[in-house]
Amino acid sequence: MANSRFEYVKSFEQSDVLLPNTWIVVRIDGRGFHKLSDHYAFTKPNDRRALDLMNAAAVEVMKELPDLCIAYGVSDEYSFVFHPNCQLFERRNGKLVTTIVSTFTAHYIYKWSEYFPDRPLLPPHLPSFDGRAVIYPNNRILRDYMSWRQVDCHINNLYNTTFWTMVLQGGMSNTDAEQELKGTVSADKNEILFKRFGINYNNELEIYKKGTVLYRQYELEEPKPTKSFTDEESVESKQSRSQQDKIRKLRRKAQVVIDHVDIIRDEFWEKRPWILSGNPGKLPV
Ligand code: ATP
Ligand code: ATP
Ligand code: MG
Ligand code: MG
Repeated sequence: MANSRFEYVKSFEQSDVLLPNTWIVVRIDGRGFHKLSDHYAFTKPNDRRALDLMNAAAVEVMKELPDLCIAYGVSDEYSFVFHPNCQLFERRNGKLVTTIVSTFTAHYIYKWSEYFPDRPLLPPHLPSFDGRAVIYPNNRILRDYMSWRQVDCHINNLYNTTFWTMVLQGGMSNTDAEQELKGTVSADKNEILFKRFGINYNNELEIYKKGTVLYRQYELEEPKPTKSFTDEESVESKQSRSQQDKIRKLRRKAQVVIDHVDIIRDEFWEKRPWILSGNPGKLPV
């Protein structure tokens, strides 16, 4: 290190280390995607290419950062989850968030032309993302966080599907559709879709109704009903650096899968105990 009289400025940097032994969720969200989706003529309410592009970029993030256990995406947002025993960047908030945001954005832009070959990206309409890290103290609350995002996906998608069907198929104006939907509950929207347009919401694509979950694939396990995954604390011992390197290598070998399933009920987590435990499972043969 070169000694200079300017070096003291380093001491102005403040620590932003996240609490140990807690789940870290980095949620990123597209900036101004309402406008961006108009500009590039995304299909309403769900542009499949845009969702596939989000998922493809997120898979690359999962591949580059083996410390990630699971990710969940909907619309222009993605939540990336680090295990409580993660030691990446000594758990520094800024480093974790900026690495995820920039890696994701780089891949999103790199892959854009593959998904939108006839709509080249041009300034000033370039996609960018914000990001934040939130820590959650135990498995139950982490799962509640994931459930919160998936419920949000469901509520928004039912609303958007009904709204855009009323506008695009029903010929209603945006304001009239909005007015009619004010104060309605899920059952009302299901009924509008079915009675007026013959659409059974249940038959909509899972990717739209459930969002997307990414995780590393190992052999599924039989759910063990005796073990409670909701109360169990996830960390007991601190892993050594060599243990962590070994686990990281094993994780890199697993395939990252793209799934559209319920992550609110226990079943998803019980069949894939490696997600909450952080211990890689058996690679499928
Ligand atoms: P902010 O910068 O505050 O996040 P925003 O315009 O991005 O503002 P969001 O609440 O994040 O607002 O909503 C994202 C918007 O992007 C959606 O409301 C929708 O209009 C659009 N959008 C995102 N993904 C898609 C998609 N796959 N298909 C169609 N529209 C989409
Ligand atoms: P900001 O980005 O300015 O912090 P935000 O928290 O609304 O605002 P998002 O990350 O875009 O930013 O929001 C994520 C989700 O949280 C959105 O679906 C939004 O509707 C919802 N949300 C925002 N505020 C609240 C709140 N106070 N309580 C519950 N849900 C909220
Ligand atoms: Mg946004
Ligand atoms: Mg959003």
